[in-house]
Amino acid sequence: MISKKMEAMVQGSSAIRAMFEEGKKMAEKYGAENVYDFSLGNPNVPAPAQVKEAAVAILNEEDSLMVHGYMSNSGYEDVRAIIANSLNRRFGTAFGEENILMTVGAAGGLNVILKTLLNPGDEVIAFAPYFGEYRSYVSNYDGVLVEVPADTQTFQPNLKMLGQKITEKTKAVIVNSPNNPTGVVYSEETIRQLAQVLEEKQSVFGTSIYLISDEPYRELVYDGAQVPWLTNYYKNTIVGYSYSKSLSLPGERIGYLVIPSEADDSALIIGAANVANRILGYVNAPSLFQRVVARCVDAKTDVAYYDRNRETLYSGLQKAGFSCIKPEGAFYLFVKSPVEDEKTFCEAAKKYHLLLVPGSSFACPGFVRLAYCVSYETIVNSLPKFMELAAEYGLGK
Ligand code: PLP
Repeated sequence: MISKKMEAMVQGSSAIRAMFEEGKKMAEKYGAENVYDFSLGNPNVPAPAQVKEAAVAILNEEDSLMVHGYMSNSGYEDVRAIIANSLNRRFGTAFGEENILMTVGAAGGLNVILKTLLNPGDEVIAFAPYFGEYRSYVSNYDGVLVEVPADTQTFQPNLKMLGQKITEKTKAVIVNSPNNPTGVVYSEETIRQLAQVLEEKQSVFGTSIYLISDEPYRELVYDGAQVPWLTNYYKNTIVGYSYSKSLSLPGERIGYLVIPSEADDSALIIGAANVANRILGYVNAPSLFQRVVARCVDAKTDVAYYDRNRETLYSGLQKAGFSCIKPEGAFYLFVKSPVEDEKTFCEAAKKYHLLLVPGSSFACPGFVRLAYCVSYETIVNSLPKFMELAAEYGLGK
């Protein structure tokens, strides 16, 4: 028998993954070109050429015992120093290698920091809509995920509600900007106000409340949108970064945590996170790709590719009569379902071979998510199908 806890987790297992599997089956049946799979955030832009060049050069030039061996559980010191320096150049910070911990993607980083911080029953606040896996990650360490309902007008975090949700048990608040699933970038004003609420509540309760900034989409922004660097606004910030999207390396499982020296109990957290990385069974982040990303700190993905998809899909959906806010970052569109139960809408969309993810997977029913990190042809060819779907619901008249 499997554990009761896993039983529940399997039951609530990701609708996104289920949809992805269904998409593969539909592609076999109808031909891949006739299925419009907007379900998974799997980048369609290949990794920059620099990534392959770096991997080959490392394998040819560097000592193979070193490249493939164990290292500090926090990662190679030289790699962490290169990343710290790159952040310092970009954000005016003063991080050293000790502030960086290499992780198994953003997912690994979030698990490491939650294991490090949470006692059973501790509360972690997330703003709906949020990446549904947060719920499982918090539950992994017997924490309680507390939800702040969405502001469906702006999809900026609802800060009035945040104040009401914080208790003496609040250990952390997770934010994700650019956001999955809305594509919204949290404004500087939002961040300032968020920091103010957290400061106030820390002094009311005499606690430390950590702001965990989950940032796999930091570089994927459009129209010159700026993503504030949160440690500059709130000292108890811990940043989780990933190369899954920014360098199109989701299968390589590589990212890092930034734990600033200014954060409360920083030295303890840095030490404990190092141990957490090991005892969670990751041991360390993949060695070859630590070395690769160190050589690619200035490499960039083809944001223009996603931007063209964004513009084409957004205007096509508008024309069809759907409503959604224009995303400023990431590669997702969050569209209002024409009916309250968005799951029935997703089912209806399947008739046209359109695969969409219900907003309830992101704690925001009544909306659906489209991941537009697909080929441009998929976008263009899907638009007549969206027209037909809209017509079924009497939209666009
Ligand atoms: N956080 C958010 C908001 C995501 O969208 C994802 C992946 O889609 C992750 C974390 C996990 O990313 P990684 O592949 O780096 O573990």
